[in-house]
Amino acid sequence: MEGLRPDLPSMAERGEIRTLHAEVFELRRANEILEFAEPHRERPACKRCRRVRPGYERARAGTHPSEPDPLMALATEVAPGVHRVADGLVNWYLIVDGGEVAMVDAGWPRSWSQVEAALTEIGRSPADVRSVVLTHAHPDHLGAAEAVRERCGATVHVYRDEVDRAHGKAKGSSPFTLVPGLAPHLWRPSAFGFVMHATVRGFMMPTWVTEVESFGSDAPIDAPGRLRAVPTPGHTEGHVALVLEEHGVVFSGDSIATLDVLTRARGARLLPDALNGDPAQTRESLTALGAIDAGLVLPGHGEPFEGTPASAVERARDVDDGGERA
Ligand SMILES: [Zn+2]
Repeated sequence: MEGLRPDLPSMAERGEIRTLHAEVFELRRANEILEFAEPHRERPACKRCRRVRPGYERARAGTHPSEPDPLMALATEVAPGVHRVADGLVNWYLIVDGGEVAMVDAGWPRSWSQVEAALTEIGRSPADVRSVVLTHAHPDHLGAAEAVRERCGATVHVYRDEVDRAHGKAKGSSPFTLVPGLAPHLWRPSAFGFVMHATVRGFMMPTWVTEVESFGSDAPIDAPGRLRAVPTPGHTEGHVALVLEEHGVVFSGDSIATLDVLTRARGARLLPDALNGDPAQTRESLTALGAIDAGLVLPGHGEPFEGTPASAVERARDVDDGGERA
């Protein structure tokens, strides 16, 4: 029967839906706790051992300190002085250069507590953050940039063609413009899960950045790490990859990912066309990305890709269906 109605979820997917309902319930509960905890700036104690969880002012109340917390930042050093923060289904990065810190992207609109937690994890404080450099200004990457600007006194650097989007003034800035493209995917539990995951983290209510400093691709960006921008338009009009030449690292943003957030398929790949503003241009930009001289690709979604951008691009092209799945 299942084969006759490919539009209906399979038995396995129905099982996933049940799991997902439980997950959504958990996320909503956690979100309610966050909403409640925020104005008080408290450190909730564990109900079992009464210990206050160190370092996390908005930690999920009632979670035992030894249990991994899904809302907790998790910083991993992936190159000398470069820390990946896996913040739910999105990554952002901290670059430590001397006594100063640059963030590459800024997570979700509600990621401020993760920023504080990650800085604590790597032994830094908000006062050390001098810059936020954005690969693009979708709400899951622009995220807490305005909070970091205000609370750390940091400068937010945005590529010149992405400035309007960072201010929320570009055509299609509103996250609601993604909804029609996403709608046909929502029968899939993993896609519905992503939308819930994003919504809980504030995706639909972004805080735009009020003051930015724009950069081009002709000179290094005046921020710790002195990143160089390589335009890779398509996902958004002003999307860039950011190169940390000193360590042979490229932050690919969403020009290439190693996790499809809608299907959870892994490995170097393009994001689904539904999430790319201009899918054809996104494919064309792979050429510019592939020409970058680096040995490690750090994407906005998924695990680091240990290899050259050229090999990541080759792999992405191999698995690309040309948008048939769109
Ligand atoms: Zn993204």
